[in-house]
Amino acid sequence: MKRNKVIDLINHSSQTAFSFEILPPMKGNSIQKVYDVIDKLWEFDPKYINITSHHSEYIYKTLPDGSFQKVNIRKRPGSVAIASAIQNKYNIPAVPHIICKGFTKEETEYALIDLNFLGVYDLLLLRGDVKTLDPSLDPSQYHNYATDLQQQVNAFNQGTAMDGSTFEANETPFSYGMACYPEKHEEAPNLASDIFYLKEKVKNGADYLVTQMFFDNEKYFAFVDYCRAEGITVPIIPGIKPVVLKNQLTILPKIFRSDIPEPFAAELRKCKNDEEAKIVGVEWCIQQCRELIAKGVPSLHFYTFLASDSVSKVAKAIY
Ligand code: FAD
Repeated sequence: MKRNKVIDLINHSSQTAFSFEILPPMKGNSIQKVYDVIDKLWEFDPKYINITSHHSEYIYKTLPDGSFQKVNIRKRPGSVAIASAIQNKYNIPAVPHIICKGFTKEETEYALIDLNFLGVYDLLLLRGDVKTLDPSLDPSQYHNYATDLQQQVNAFNQGTAMDGSTFEANETPFSYGMACYPEKHEEAPNLASDIFYLKEKVKNGADYLVTQMFFDNEKYFAFVDYCRAEGITVPIIPGIKPVVLKNQLTILPKIFRSDIPEPFAAELRKCKNDEEAKIVGVEWCIQQCRELIAKGVPSLHFYTFLASDSVSKVAKAIY
């Protein structure tokens, strides 16, 4: 496959580029579930496809004697293999998410080696969700922040391993995007603090930023203005999710800290069931995307989890 860097595909797209994120199937399920989503959205000419990454979670299993056993399970393994399978089957860049929480620095290094062998060169570098992370893990084995992971990838690109040993730098270095939060990351004391670290991400090599999902375009526009004023010039790609369940009215703000504007919330409240919520979700998403396109966003990146039918309806309306 000819190398097409994601940043070049975004910058050279003749219209607002379309891309989406998929989750690896639950452990033991077929990769066909991933292909089914891609096939559904293929007609909209995706420029690249992201694959999320998930660390092991710990749960307590009840044993026959009534006691509990702590077990670690990785519910959705396989991001690296899925990225490679997608590239080979669809001849399109696949972007695996590399997270540092729950993956040791050494495991990350092996993943980078595998990805290089497989010809997967575009990544999204993230810290990863920490809510279900095993607190007993030895913190010294893991990076604290996405910027620390970024240093590892940059060093790898230059031929330096985690143990300080050196190797011939790979012919094709990894390029990557990183995450940002128009409504502030939940742990950040304030937006200015988030932007401070965002500038580090960009200064140290992030080609572009992808936002957390948002439902209020004004928040995105204000965030982009803030970033530009602070000298962040890379594309800031809106992450878009159509609401598909009535209870997402309260769940999405809780999990992702994304506000649902009152006109949208009012419509969702009126829905009697998920079918109605899905219709309202698609309508809101279409309006959101139309306005973003009209304002010249370079690209729209869709979160498809539970929502690939809705994403298809939205894409049909806007492309
Ligand atoms: P960071 O950039 O490390 O930021 C985390 C917090 O620390 C922020 O408050 C930031 O301001 C602050 N900070 C950053 N750098 C420093 C520093 N050097 N020192 C002190 N503070 C710092 N999660 C998954 O588990 N798997 C996925 O596949 C996944 N995909 C995602 C895709 C997108 C587009 C987005 C937006 C999020 C995704 N997430 C995923 C969730 C993400 O991992 C969490 O939101 C996580 O809490 C933060 O990730 P980050 O990369 O933004 O972290």
